[in-house]
Amino acid sequence: MCGRPLERITETGCDSLIVAAGAGQSHFGNEHFAEYAPGMKTNDDALELRGRILGAFDQAELATDPAEIEKLLTFVVIGAGPTGVEMAGQIAELTHKTLDGTYREIDSRSARIILLDAAPKVLPPISDSLGHAAAKRLSKMGVDIQLGAMVTDLDADGLSVKDGDGTNRRIFSRAKAWSAGVAASPLGRQLTDQSGAEVDHAGRVLVNKDLSLPDHPEVFVVGDMMSLDKLPGVAQVAIQGRTLRRSRHLRRPRSRSRRPRYARAHRLRVLRQRFHGDGLAVQCRRAVHWTPWVGPLMQA
Ligand SMILES: Cc1cc2nc3c(=O)[nH]c(=O)nc-3n(C[C@H](O)[C@H](O)[C@H](O)COP(=O)(O)OP(=O)(O)OC[C@H]3O[C@@H](n4cnc5c(N)ncnc54)[C@H](O)[C@@H]3O)c2cc1C
Repeated sequence: MCGRPLERITETGCDSLIVAAGAGQSHFGNEHFAEYAPGMKTNDDALELRGRILGAFDQAELATDPAEIEKLLTFVVIGAGPTGVEMAGQIAELTHKTLDGTYREIDSRSARIILLDAAPKVLPPISDSLGHAAAKRLSKMGVDIQLGAMVTDLDADGLSVKDGDGTNRRIFSRAKAWSAGVAASPLGRQLTDQSGAEVDHAGRVLVNKDLSLPDHPEVFVVGDMMSLDKLPGVAQVAIQGRTLRRSRHLRRPRSRSRRPRYARAHRLRVLRQRFHGDGLAVQCRRAVHWTPWVGPLMQA
């Protein structure tokens, strides 16, 4: 392990390495998009978006040109995954409830909230029935859902969109939020470059069932950085990975040849059951209630 406190490089030897550096936002190679539609991954992102959204209302209150007011009161969330669904729902609550009556010149309830995705459904990683339920609830809250709509460009005044039938159009909007893509920490690629392991399309490291790297039983990747059995990038998976990995790591004998085979098989079975159990649980409405993203939407 290497660190760089006070500009000094230090190296710390270790028997095992557990890497859990998480994931960040991906703009699919269009890095300039980030300037006009910040991601939703960090506290800084949250503060930036808050400033842009509330600032748009304040500017609309002072504006006199109807077209400018419309542009300021049009909010676009790009990406209808769990984060985008949550964001669109929160902006809808903000405009219809929290800010209602706050302004004199504008009616915050007249704001337009658009949730846009290139995919044909809301919540693509989750089951169709949950996607439909979330879409229905959002529509009831006044969110305009536009699916099969791919963003081709972004600037300060709005975005260019290509629809499924090939039509190009423009949406004028000052405040946009990006929740369309996720990229694992670049540490993942460093690991794979050095170990020969592979990464998936989002840069997540493909791990064995026990979360170790192929041919490197002493190196483990957990949480949003790892790719295993299409498990979603949620806290539940990350927490379980940490717990299981830690207990196995602590118990691992120094000599691998001494480890009883049944013990390893048992641990793997437990791991598989717990992860797969949760993977399936994500499909159940019951389990959605622990996910603050979707929970409120289901209690329509
Ligand atoms: C807006 C939002 C809402 C979410 N809501 C939910 C939810 O309701 N329910 C749910 O289950 N999940 C939710 N998630 C997902 C959940 O946050 C993640 O799945 C979980 O945090 C993953 O844990 P992790 O430990 O893998 O990564 P993280 O929690 O991202 O932790 C990674 C840590 O590593 C640090 N790090 C990164 N690179 C380095 C480096 N080079 N050196 C040292 N440290 C580094 C980072 O600073 C960070 O502290 C949400 C995510 C977002 C963005």
